[in-house]
Amino acid sequence: MGAKINAGKTQIILGDLEKRQYKANRQLLAYSRIAVVPFSCVVLFGDLSIMLYPHSYGENPRHPKSTDFSVVQKDDNTGFGVISYRSFKANEVLAHVSGEVVSDIRQHTLQIARNKHLYDPYFTGYLLHSCNPNVSLNMKRLTLTALRDIPENSFLYMDYAETEDTLFRQFSCSCGQENCRGVITGRKETPYINLVDSGARIRMARS
Ligand SMILES: [Zn+2]
Repeated sequence: MGAKINAGKTQIILGDLEKRQYKANRQLLAYSRIAVVPFSCVVLFGDLSIMLYPHSYGENPRHPKSTDFSVVQKDDNTGFGVISYRSFKANEVLAHVSGEVVSDIRQHTLQIARNKHLYDPYFTGYLLHSCNPNVSLNMKRLTLTALRDIPENSFLYMDYAETEDTLFRQFSCSCGQENCRGVITGRKETPYINLVDSGARIRMARS
């Protein structure tokens, strides 16, 4: 059975696998904060145990680690997002990303090409949206890069219109940025949500 979580206008559906992974990540993170792991242990066992991704996503050491990032609930309105425990400099690559390539648009997919989407319910699928993002996702290189200096303990925000022609679901944005588009759509969509009720300003996503 999956759990449904209302995250503002967006409903996040967590499957049992995601819930277990989330719980495991939190436990590992709690452990990593209280224990100093000897260097020899890292050499002997590697650091695969702290990777956010399952082994099936590949063994790239630059994949996101639970010591650097976690999927956490930001607040009742926003729902879950990715927090970075590390600071990054502008233009620095935060992580290489991965996932399962699928042909359909899902809650946690990011578009690679037309009819080709990356399903990543462990990391990139939980990046929050902002009209003034602090990270950029390159779907050809599969890298996540800082757009400006990111202090530690910051939530990571991308612009969903950077990667998506069509969103899984449009929503009215409350990012609070001066350049907020109001209604967030994919780059090839026109808004279909009820703008009068939401009071949102209409501005097309950048293309
Ligand atoms: Zn906005």
